[in-house]
Amino acid sequence: MLVTESIEEIRNTVKLWKREKLKVGFVPTMGALHDGHLALIKQAKKKSDRVVVSIFVNPEQFGPNEDFDHYPRQLEEDLKICRKVRAAAVFTPEVPDMYPGEKFFSISINELNQHMCGASRPGFFEGIVLVVNKLFNIIDPDIAVFGQKDIQQFLIIKQMAREFNLRVKLEMGKIIRANDGLALSSRNAYLSNDERLLAPSLYRSLSYIEKQISNGIDKPELLIAHQKNELEAKGFKIDYLNVFSLNNIKPVEKLEKGGNYILAGAVYLGKTRLIDNILLEL
Ligand code: AMP
Repeated sequence: MLVTESIEEIRNTVKLWKREKLKVGFVPTMGALHDGHLALIKQAKKKSDRVVVSIFVNPEQFGPNEDFDHYPRQLEEDLKICRKVRAAAVFTPEVPDMYPGEKFFSISINELNQHMCGASRPGFFEGIVLVVNKLFNIIDPDIAVFGQKDIQQFLIIKQMAREFNLRVKLEMGKIIRANDGLALSSRNAYLSNDERLLAPSLYRSLSYIEKQISNGIDKPELLIAHQKNELEAKGFKIDYLNVFSLNNIKPVEKLEKGGNYILAGAVYLGKTRLIDNILLEL
C-alpha cells in the first residue's frame, strides 16, 4: 500500500493505474477510522480496481471555536486498518501543501446550505466543498463514496458534481452503528462513559419518530417537540431535530405520500456534537 503526503506522487500513481485501464475509487476521510469508514472503503473496492483513502483533517471546515486542534489523530492505527482492507493508497497531505499561499477565490453555496448543519456551522460546507473539490482534482477518481451519516454533505457534493460537470460518480454508504444504535463517529471518542451510555438516545428518538410517521402521522411537529423535550430532560442540548425534504434540505411541516425526506438531528452532549439521520420514503 502506497502511503504518501505528496500530491505529485499520488497523481502519478493514479495516472499509472489509469494507463492500465484500472478503475479508481476514492474515500475521503479525516482519519480516526472506524467501521463506518471501513464500510465505505469496502464499498469503493467493490466498484473499482484500486481504492485511494485520503486522511486529512481539513482546517477550512472547522469554525474558530470548533475542535480542529483536538480532533483525534491516529495515523499509524489508521494505516493498519487501510492495509487490512487492502486500500491501494493512502494520501495524507499536509496543510501547507493543500493550502499554499493566498486565496483569491472562495466558494459559496446557496439553497442546500440554509438548514441543518449548514445553518448552525457557518463556513462548514464551504470548507468541505473546497477540500473535496481539491481532492477530486488531485486524485481524479472514477467513483467516490461518502456516508449517509453526513447526508447534507453528500447532497451538496452531488449537486457540485452535477453543476460543475465533474466526471466522478458518487455513491452513498449506509450508516454504520454500534450495537446500541449510536452512529459511529470519530468524535464519539470525546464522550465520557456516562455520555456514551446516553448517546444512543438520539437514534432512539429518530427511530420513534420514524415509526410514528410510518404509522400515518403526517404532521410530525408535536411528535418532534416531545422528543426534543425528552432529549433535553436527559441532558442533551438540541441544535436541530426535524424532517427535511431530500430534494432541497428545507424543513417540511406536512409529509406527502410518495415524498422523500430526511429525518435528522444534531445535538450536543457536553461539548460533543452528535448527528444522525434516517431517510424516509413515504
Ligand atoms: P469523516 O472522517 O468524519 O470526515 O468521515 C469520512 C466519511 O465517512 C464521510 O463520507 C462520512 O459520511 C463517513 N462516515 C462517518 N461516519 C460514518 C458511519 N457511522 N457510517 C458510515 N459512514 C460514515
